[in-house]
Amino acid sequence: MSLDRVARERLVRALAGAVIEHADELTSLDQAIGDGDHGLNMKRGFEAVLATLPGLADKSLPEMLKAIGMTLVMKVGGASGPLVGTFFMELGKALPEQPSRPDLVTATEKAIEAVKARGRSEAGQKTLLDVLVPVHAVLAEGGDAKAIAAEAVQAADRTTPMQAIRGRASFLGERSIGHMDPGSRSASLLIGAAVETLKFEVNT
Ligand code: ADP
Ligand code: MG
Repeated sequence: MSLDRVARERLVRALAGAVIEHADELTSLDQAIGDGDHGLNMKRGFEAVLATLPGLADKSLPEMLKAIGMTLVMKVGGASGPLVGTFFMELGKALPEQPSRPDLVTATEKAIEAVKARGRSEAGQKTLLDVLVPVHAVLAEGGDAKAIAAEAVQAADRTTPMQAIRGRASFLGERSIGHMDPGSRSASLLIGAAVETLKFEVNT
């Protein structure tokens, strides 16, 4: 996968746009089982990322991802900021400038492990890991852009009947059942935007 400057800027705008356009939805999901700030947190973070364009896209892909991660850690706040930020930073650290598909599989795996370590969490606890882990599995199995995007949506849906074991929603115990995890929804939106923008690169 080789992304030129224009493609890198397009990717950043797509990621930010997906979150910003859905901020109200993310907020209402977090109102149901959290404190209602997830939409605003993510919107603030990605607006800060957009503010670093166009310079951001001058960086190589790995450096750009690291810079996005650092901005997100600083600006998103909440529990999700350090986690989403860590994902981008570790992805940047692990990816070469022109990643092959196996590079992408290995790097996303490392980024997911870093999120698990940071959140002291794992899949099955109704967090964004319930999207990252199954989507990674589809990527590792060779799934195309369509399969990856579909899994992202379905994985977020599958958090609805789960009981939260980590994060603020876990304070609700069984009352967290029946609502989609907000962090899973934002992860799904980000993955959807990334594969839509990188369709060609993902499929080849
Ligand atoms: P806060 O919970 O501090 O208000 P946000 O509302 O921005 O932060 O983010 C909540 C989301 O963060 C949750 O929906 C969940 O997906 C994710 N999350 C929270 N705690 C953890 C954790 N320990 N591990 C993984 N993800 C987590
Ligand atoms: Mg919250």
